[in-house]
Amino acid sequence: MRDLITLPKAHLHVHLESTARAATVAHWAARDGVPVPPGGPFPGFRAFADRNALVRGLLRSPEDFHRLAVEFCADEAAQGTRYAEVTFTAASHGERLNDLDMPLAAVVEGLREGAHANDITVRLLLDHSRRQSVARLERTVELATRYPEVVGIGLAGDEAYPLAPFAEVLRAAGEAGLHLVHHAGESAGPESVREAVEIGRAQRIGHGFQALADPSVVALLRERGVAVEICVSSNVVLGLVPTAAAHPVRALIEAGVPVTINTDIPDVTGRALADEYALWRTALGFTDEELAEVAIAAAEASFATAQVRDGLITGAVRWLG
Ligand SMILES: [Zn+2]
Repeated sequence: MRDLITLPKAHLHVHLESTARAATVAHWAARDGVPVPPGGPFPGFRAFADRNALVRGLLRSPEDFHRLAVEFCADEAAQGTRYAEVTFTAASHGERLNDLDMPLAAVVEGLREGAHANDITVRLLLDHSRRQSVARLERTVELATRYPEVVGIGLAGDEAYPLAPFAEVLRAAGEAGLHLVHHAGESAGPESVREAVEIGRAQRIGHGFQALADPSVVALLRERGVAVEICVSSNVVLGLVPTAAAHPVRALIEAGVPVTINTDIPDVTGRALADEYALWRTALGFTDEELAEVAIAAAEASFATAQVRDGLITGAVRWLG
C-alpha cells in the first residue's frame, strides 16, 4: 500500500468556507463574542445549512478572507493536492458585507500568496444558490470575469429549486469563456442531472450519483464525458447514503462515467483529501491502481492547463512505480 499523500492529486469539489481550520473558526468566534458553530453529525440538511451560515457569518474583513485562502493552500499542499478548483460564494459574502468586490479580491490575493508559498496551483469556481435571484447570478458572473484565477461558475444549494430560470445567464457565461459545473443528483434524482447537463450545460456535475436511478442519464454522462465529483464522506454525514461502504460509486465507474474523489465539506466530515482517498481504499476496496486511475480522471476532468494536467498524470503513473 502506497502513501496516499504522495499521490499527486487534483481536488475539484471543495467549498472554501468549509475548509476553515477549527482553531481559526474558534478564534473568529471568540473575537466576535459568539458561540463556536457546532460540528456534525447533523439531523438533516437544514441543520447543516444553519451551521454553515454561522461559519460564513464569521467572515467579515479582508484579513479573514485572506487568512482562509492562505490556510487552505497550506492544508491542501499537506494532503498532496497539487491542483485545486475551490468553490467560493463570492456574491453572497459581498452582498452580506455591503461590499461586492472585497471578499473575492481578498480570496484571490490569499490564494496567490498561498499557492506560491506551497508550490501548488489553485483556481476558483464561484457558486450560486438556486434559491437566490437571477440578478445575483449575473453579479456572480460579473465578478467571475474579473480575475484569471476564476475558471468557472455553477449552481449549488437546494436541488428542489429548478435550474431553468438561470439557463440564459449560464449560456452567456459559457460563451464568455467560463466553465460550468453544477451541483445536481445529490439530494434530487436523475432528472436534476439531466437538467444540469442539457439545460445548464454542465461540464462536470457536483455529486451526481443519483443519476444511477436512470440508465439513460448515466448514458448521457458517459456519452458526453461529463465527470462526477463524488464526495463520499459528505454524502454519509448528510444522510444521503447510509455508510461509505454502501456508496454506489463503483456502479458509475463500471458504467463508464468519469469519477473523481472530493471532500466537499471537510470541516464537517473531518476528512481532508488524502483521508478521503484512504476511505475509498478501506471502505470501498479500491486498489492503488484504481486510486491512481481515479486521480488521473480528476486531472483529465479539471480545467487546468495541459501542462498542469500532464504533470498530474505523469505523477500518478510514477506513484504506481
Ligand atoms: Zn458542494
